[in-house]
Formats: sequence, structure tokens, C-alpha cells
Amino acid sequence: MDASTLTESSVSHVGARHEMRRRRIRALERRGKITGVDTLLITGGSRGIGRATALLAAQRGWPVAINYHTDAAAAAATAAAVGQRGARVMTVRGDVSVEADVISMFDHARRELGPLGGVVINAGIVAPSMHLADMSADRLRTMFQVNVFGAYLCAREAARTLSRGRGGNGGSVVIVSSMAARLGSPGEYVDYAGSKAALDTLVIGLAKELGPQGVRVNGVRPGLIETGIHAVSGDPDRARRLGAAAPLGRAGLPEEVAEAIVWLLSDAASYVTGSMLDVSGGR
Ligand code: NAP
Repeated sequence: MDASTLTESSVSHVGARHEMRRRRIRALERRGKITGVDTLLITGGSRGIGRATALLAAQRGWPVAINYHTDAAAAAATAAAVGQRGARVMTVRGDVSVEADVISMFDHARRELGPLGGVVINAGIVAPSMHLADMSADRLRTMFQVNVFGAYLCAREAARTLSRGRGGNGGSVVIVSSMAARLGSPGEYVDYAGSKAALDTLVIGLAKELGPQGVRVNGVRPGLIETGIHAVSGDPDRARRLGAAAPLGRAGLPEEVAEAIVWLLSDAASYVTGSMLDVSGGR
């Protein structure tokens, strides 16, 4: 596990303006006027939907901690782009399915950027398309290890960090599920679909647990979104090809999912918890 911050010189005066805004917001928070606008931690924030969320959140004034697993160059590139938008930013390597990594990434984010107010549980994997009958036990284990166990570990850490009864400021958690949870993904990856269905249920239960703690918990279910994830399934063009059959006639862009995530994080969604928002072009 390693963590790095952009140097002071790369954090422009625009960052200072955001810092002043953040201080004003924190003062309002302390007076109980608003909640959920401190540091944002995004798991799998280096590429795809996580990257788009980091960029949009930065524009809306969040300092952003970007977790990644293997691709340090992609994380650095995203951090640089976030920094150019004037936000304070850090990258933190860690495997969401390893407890020590998850605890450490939350610690690093808090220490480097200040108290957390938002967590996006976004990191996830797919695997090559095939029928369940052909899937190895190793594949199934990895799928549930990362997508379910990893997401639950991150959600637990978010609960420990944000809950007012545990010293947190309250805040907002967004869990990235998938339309696969409702469609089942037959012949492609029923394992992935089931792993995402578990997250839909997590949203329901955790929202009820954490509401009294000042923490909102919601989920988004993206449909076919143009990111690099589809190459892993063996069909890089999958989103564009199948997206044409969606009611809106096209695949979605990561930026369109980011809009939903950042809205759910924001105070504009202050009475929304336990909800799933489909971002799927009607699929
Ligand atoms: P992506 O482009 O493949 O990006 C995945 C991100 O997750 C990367 O930052 C990756 O980091 C990180 N990651 C993977 N395994 C990790 C682990 N064990 N620990 C920490 N980070 C890990 O994927 P995406 O399309 O943006 O998908 C993001 C989320 O949306 C996933 O949960 C996915 O299931 C969901 N989703 C996507 C679609 C779609 O059509 N794209 C549709 C529905 C739902 P490294 O690169 O460093 O490994």
C-alpha cells in the first residue's frame, strides 16, 4: 500500500479558493446546517466511471482520494486531471478485497485530505463471458471476493468513519451496482450479476442502519457504459454494440453515471437514502 499527494506547487490558487469554500462549509456543518461535504474517497477511481466521478466531484468542490489497484499510471493521470480542476487530490493503492488495504486507504485519505464526507464504492471486475456451467471455482471466488467482499469491507469502513456515533461527520455513500443485478446476464456472467444484486441489498440494509447516524446510502445501476471493463469480458465493443438496442438507442458515457453519483453525494439529495438510481438508457 502506498499513497502519494500532488505537490503543493501543483495545487494552484484555485485549490486555495476551494479550501476556503470547504472551511466555510465545515463551519456550517459544525453548526448542523448541512452535511456530507468533506473529502471524497472513490474506490477504483482511476479509470472509467470512477475517473469520471473524480473529475466531476472535483469540479463541485470535493477534495478527492483516488483508490486504484494495479494501474498506477492511470491513477496518476486522473489525479493530475483532478488537480487541474483546482481540487486537492491524492492517489492510494489498495486491493478492496484485502482488509488491511481498505483500512489503510481510509486512514491515508483522512490524514492527507481531512475528514471524509463521501465514499463511492465503485471498484469492480468482470470476467470473460461464458455459461455458469463452464465457470471455474477460482473465477467464482475472485468475482465474489472483489465485488461482494471488497464492497462490504469498504462499506463497513465507511460506516465506521462517517457515523456520528463513532466520531464522524455523517455523509453520503454511493454504491455502484449494475443493471446486471436485475437482468441476470445469462450466457455472459451470471456470477457478476449476482455479485451486484448483493450490493442492491446492502444499500437497503445499510441505509436503514446509518440513517440515524447522519449517513445516507444509495446505489446506482449503470447499464452499458463505454469503459475499458468490457475488454475483460472478451468484447471491447460490447457497450456500443448492445447499447444500440437500449430504448435511448446508444451506450452511456461514464460522465453520465458520474452525474448521478455526484448528485446522490450532494446535499441536493438530502432526503434520498436507500434508493437505487438506474442510469441505463431505459434498458
Ligand atoms: P473499469 O474501467 O474497468 O475500472 C475499474 C476500476 O476499478 C479501476 O480503477 C481499477 O483499478 C479498479 N479496481 C479493480 N479491481 C480492484 C480491486 N481489487 N481493488 C481496488 N480497485 C480495483 O470499470 P468501470 O466500467 O468504470 O466500472 C466501475 C464500476 O461500475 C464497477 O463496479 C462495474 O461493475 C460497474 N459497472 C460498469 C458498467 C459498464 O458498462 N462499464 C455497467 C454496470 C456497472 P486498476 O486499473 O488499478 O486495477
